[in-house]
Amino acid sequence: MIRPTTCPICQHVAPQASVNTYFPFCSERCKLVDFSRWWDGKYQIVDHLDEDRLLELQERTDSNSQHDSGDAEEY
Ligand SMILES: [Zn+2]
Repeated sequence: MIRPTTCPICQHVAPQASVNTYFPFCSERCKLVDFSRWWDGKYQIVDHLDEDRLLELQERTDSNSQHDSGDAEEY
């Protein structure tokens, strides 16, 4: 006997993959909800581990302390 797959987002029964483009989710909405959650997490990870950005911030801090000129970027 095949156990019905429940949508991990809303816990409703999801249709089989053969008839459901959004399997294992029950609908496009739930798939998008899951995707946006995953995407938010990924953005946070990338932001933390982006070495180029860290170096850029570091260089900016160094140059600011060396010469106090007026060419600072506007935020
Ligand atoms: Zn759902």
